[in-house]
Amino acid sequence: MKKSVNIVGAGIAGLATAIRLAARDYRVTVFERSDAPGGKLGTIYWEGFRWDTGPSLFTLPDLVEELFVLAGSEMKTSVRYQKLEVITRYFYEDGKILNAYGEPQRFEEEAERVFGEPVGHVRKHLDHSREIYELTSELFIFSRFFRMGTFISPKFIKALLQAWKLDSMVTMHDANAKRFRSPHLVQLFDRYATYNGSDPYRAPGTLNIISHLEHNLGAFFPERGMHSLALGMKELADRMGVIFHFNQPVEKVAMNRREAKGVVVEGGIYPSELVVSDMDIFYFYRDLLEDVAFPVRQFRKERSTSALIFYWAIDGVFPGLELHNIFFSGNYREEFSCLRGKRTIHEDPTIYLFISSKMVHGDAPAGKENWYVMINVPENLGQDWDSLIALARRNILDKLRRNLGTDVEPLILKEFVADPRSIEAGTSSHRGSLYGNSSNSRIAAFSRHPNFLRKFRGLFFVGGSVHPGGGIPLCLASARIVDQQIK
Ligand SMILES: Cc1cc2nc3c(=O)[nH]c(=O)nc-3n(C[C@H](O)[C@H](O)[C@H](O)COP(=O)(O)OP(=O)(O)OC[C@H]3O[C@@H](n4cnc5c(N)ncnc54)[C@H](O)[C@@H]3O)c2cc1C
Repeated sequence: MKKSVNIVGAGIAGLATAIRLAARDYRVTVFERSDAPGGKLGTIYWEGFRWDTGPSLFTLPDLVEELFVLAGSEMKTSVRYQKLEVITRYFYEDGKILNAYGEPQRFEEEAERVFGEPVGHVRKHLDHSREIYELTSELFIFSRFFRMGTFISPKFIKALLQAWKLDSMVTMHDANAKRFRSPHLVQLFDRYATYNGSDPYRAPGTLNIISHLEHNLGAFFPERGMHSLALGMKELADRMGVIFHFNQPVEKVAMNRREAKGVVVEGGIYPSELVVSDMDIFYFYRDLLEDVAFPVRQFRKERSTSALIFYWAIDGVFPGLELHNIFFSGNYREEFSCLRGKRTIHEDPTIYLFISSKMVHGDAPAGKENWYVMINVPENLGQDWDSLIALARRNILDKLRRNLGTDVEPLILKEFVADPRSIEAGTSSHRGSLYGNSSNSRIAAFSRHPNFLRKFRGLFFVGGSVHPGGGIPLCLASARIVDQQIK
């Protein structure tokens, strides 16, 4: 009989781990605090409208496909997805508008047409991003990294010999400023630092690998929205015999001399030979482990940013908008200085507007749209959020009016709001950070909490707050690493 595994949390990493281990005939049980799968990959409904509440950008779909293949199934029977023709429409304060096309050649032509950027620069940048990805991904994303073998592996030595190509000694902004003439394009590529809650003026240029994922490998969108990824994975896990307990928070991990023996739920022990945690590592140590020293140094590290999101039911249709839209701040550097230095929200924040009903017609009634309006905000340190949110809402509406030439406020039929406090409370994310620790330092990639510690037997960690980091692809990578680690 194969071993039994209890998984804490049905976020995307918990679901992926459940599928992987069930495919190896482990007896898998998942305990989830809330009433639905997905964690941050959530959804809300209101009178014919539906919103994805968390992630909206879907890259590296192969990592999800792989789970279906392992289970002997086909992803397209549960979740179909499309490659985006226009990845994002960018609006700048000087009135310039650029479509970032999924096809690199077309993107390059658009950059020349709108900004006069010489042909070849975008291609060269994306080729360089690909090179960084190829040198680093197997080492830093898809492997455990924290073992001696890594440092003598041919891949590590190859990366070391070409370290100068990784842009690890320059900031992302400086690397981009060297490559592009147009400050608009520098800003566009700088924005990829925010894909893991970091700051382009401090994060290493190595993070330019993110634009490779989106522009060379492609940006995708599931035909029934992002939450359908979680539902499809849950359905697959069900078919494989995984048992789910919703509304069942795990209270403790039952340990015997540093060996995991099961989980405690509602005062009762559910024994298992292995335990995998998909919850935020901070709360895991604080709440679930007894008699274990809190790794203070780990939690002194800088957190990634959080978000303020307005989910608006809009009475109208805006043909000039795409699925993903960005309205850039007129002063990007100052925006990040507010986030990091002053821990507040800039008066002219960059707005991300995501409208899933542009592709999923059932997500809004005819003649209406479901807007997800997000800005980056600092982690929750007890700021006066109610005042900050009221001011930010005003500034967002003004900025949208400037850029779209329409006052959106009278069109809002219903509003839901997510802020660092609700993100923290809703998904147990320490300080409401979206992606665990930030990647602002050169050593961030090496200093996340490992997926496994020798001092604990039978205990493993997956998800956005541990190695290799936050975001759907990295969470799926953590599940793959743990799968390989469990003998
Ligand atoms: C607003 C927002 C936008 C984002 N945008 C993107 C994006 O566009 N693209 C992208 O790739 N990523 C994005 N991300 C990041 C991405 O959503 C996360 O990195 C990823 O979903 C985290 O998954 P996870 O499995 O690590 O954890 P989570 O989704 O946090 O799931 C953890 C689960 O554990 C449960 N849990 C916690 N404590 C307990 C307990 N004691 N017992 C039982 N269950 C427990 C929680 O309820 C939760 O369901 C975004 C995140 C947010 C919030």
